[in-house]
Amino acid sequence: MYRNTWMEVNLDAIADNVRRIRQICGKRIIAVLKADAYGCGDNHVAKAVLEAGIEMIAVSSLDEALMLRNEGYDGEILILGATDPQDAAVLIREDISAAAYSMEWVRAVASMNPEGLKIHLKVDTGMNRIGFKDIPSLQEAFRTLKNAGCAAEGIFTHFYCADTSRELTQKQFGRFAEAVNALDYPFPWIHCDNSDASVFFKDDLSNACRLGVSMYGISSYLDDLRHPIALYSQVIMTKTVKAGETIGYGALYTAQQDEIIATIPIGYADGFIRANRGRSVWIDGQFAPVTGNVCMDQIMVRLEKDVPVGTPVEIFGPHIHLETMAEELHTIPYEIICLISGRVTRTYRWHGQELIEENARFIKSEVNSL
Ligand SMILES: *Cc1c(COP(=O)(O)O)cnc(C)c1O
Repeated sequence: MYRNTWMEVNLDAIADNVRRIRQICGKRIIAVLKADAYGCGDNHVAKAVLEAGIEMIAVSSLDEALMLRNEGYDGEILILGATDPQDAAVLIREDISAAAYSMEWVRAVASMNPEGLKIHLKVDTGMNRIGFKDIPSLQEAFRTLKNAGCAAEGIFTHFYCADTSRELTQKQFGRFAEAVNALDYPFPWIHCDNSDASVFFKDDLSNACRLGVSMYGISSYLDDLRHPIALYSQVIMTKTVKAGETIGYGALYTAQQDEIIATIPIGYADGFIRANRGRSVWIDGQFAPVTGNVCMDQIMVRLEKDVPVGTPVEIFGPHIHLETMAEELHTIPYEIICLISGRVTRTYRWHGQELIEENARFIKSEVNSL
């Protein structure tokens, strides 16, 4: 690691969180590893969740599914989002399940000779993103796919207020149950719960839960999950600036007295967005506020007492909780971790070992003539 800015991912803690939630919900677990497992590294997180006994992995696109296949995962994969009907043959060849979410999609797939394609019907119970909104169209889609030789492997919906409203969740579930009952088919996979619903919502219809953010310790209902991820950097220089001097682009910060300023190699190109100006990082027992604008690659922070070059800096972790950081930035933890960019080194803890994965870039490019 040549640039000391790194994200720590404790895979043992992720596995523990999965085991804990599995115990609470008592259902099969679909680990949602979309967006490179929320920025944590899908192949590594896959290893941890498989050890914890999950039965299926869900991703958002065929690209993400193929990356897991390339990395050697040969178990169940479901694509939650859109797939191109033209790619039906790839889905079948790679044994990847797809969401069936609109009549247009279903008709296009049915014309692609989809014998053996595994599909999960998506029911829209109020999210208004993708899925069938009414039972007649759901029934027609189901018949069309069955007649075309597809395997109806599952049916699912997605809750939009599981973190805040039991009432709305119950209402959505009611619609889902109606849809499932209307098809009257023994789907092997019936799933509706996300992380939050999986710990409070109980029903006898669904038989699997889809876990995402709670694997990383974020939950609206449990406060004793482990916290597997943290983001660190280190001090590369400190200096004293005189009262009246300004700091950074746009001269947005003026020192009120002689102040100790530390420079840290993390910036918005690492996912440490400019809205972090004024927020604090944690350095050797001190909360150090970001002074001036966040640069692309560096920030300057104010210290109460000087520290040596090389002192570690916690961006979030044991002293600054990811959830607190999200609140201060008026966002959600998901967004913060997904934005941590590819040039930030990942270090993994796993069974007493540490694996360091550099900001490796796997370049694959092609040139097409126009
Ligand atoms: C992202 C996603 C999940 C996981 O949500 P969490 O809140 O992270 O548990 C589950 N289902 C679908 C359809 C999703 O898009």
